[in-house]
Amino acid sequence: MGIFLDIHQFPCLNDNYGYLVHEPASGQTAAIDTPDAERYLEEAQKRGWTITQVWNTHWHPDHAGGNLRLKEATGCRILGPSGEAEKIPGLDQPLKGGDVAMLGEAAASVIDVPGHTLGHIAFHFAGQSAAFVGDAVFALGCGRVFEGTMDMMWQSLKRVKALPAKTQLYCAHEYTASNARFAVTIEPENKALKEYVAWIDKQRSNGLPTVPALLERELATNPFLRADLPAMQLAMGFPGNASATFGEIRGRKDRF
Ligand code: ZN
Ligand code: FE
Repeated sequence: MGIFLDIHQFPCLNDNYGYLVHEPASGQTAAIDTPDAERYLEEAQKRGWTITQVWNTHWHPDHAGGNLRLKEATGCRILGPSGEAEKIPGLDQPLKGGDVAMLGEAAASVIDVPGHTLGHIAFHFAGQSAAFVGDAVFALGCGRVFEGTMDMMWQSLKRVKALPAKTQLYCAHEYTASNARFAVTIEPENKALKEYVAWIDKQRSNGLPTVPALLERELATNPFLRADLPAMQLAMGFPGNASATFGEIRGRKDRF
């Protein structure tokens, strides 16, 4: 029997998503990142949940800025990347790729996805087909490569690509509409992408989220995840070189 998880998603700050993950059997609740502590406390209270853990993906203030306030308010335990332990306020339990984080009975495996930051991690609940990917991957996009190298980021994206295709990617930002405008410049003839963009426009004009994103759909449309395709490599001018192709696409997006 699978463990049921209740995932509550809500907008935070300008374009972040907040996530509370509740495991009813144990009553435990994890805050995935802490963009805005007060919003998290409000959303938890509305549901009658108590935040027992914080799980950080990386150190950026729109992800870990609310840690200490949440800890002070709830006494929660803070789990986060060992690779940036000194930058994660209140960290209790450092995690690295291959570790397992438990929320009550539900297990999430920790995946190293450095590049945006050097210690960035993601959390994969295989039993729930859900992955919390922070700023590593977005719908039709990926995080800017601030601290790592292009090759490092590509290796990280390959780990995400290797998850089961039916995995829902819970990204930390609603950047999809602007990512879509860029993606069509890279693959103007991609039919699945055109259909996705039409759906995105409809969601956004109705004020609805485009996140989570189904990995299967991202594999067919997200240019950053497609750097290993020969046609993409040829179009970007780096035949046979996925990481250079990824770097070219990332560079074009940075200048877009
Ligand atoms: Zn970030
Ligand atoms: Fe962010």
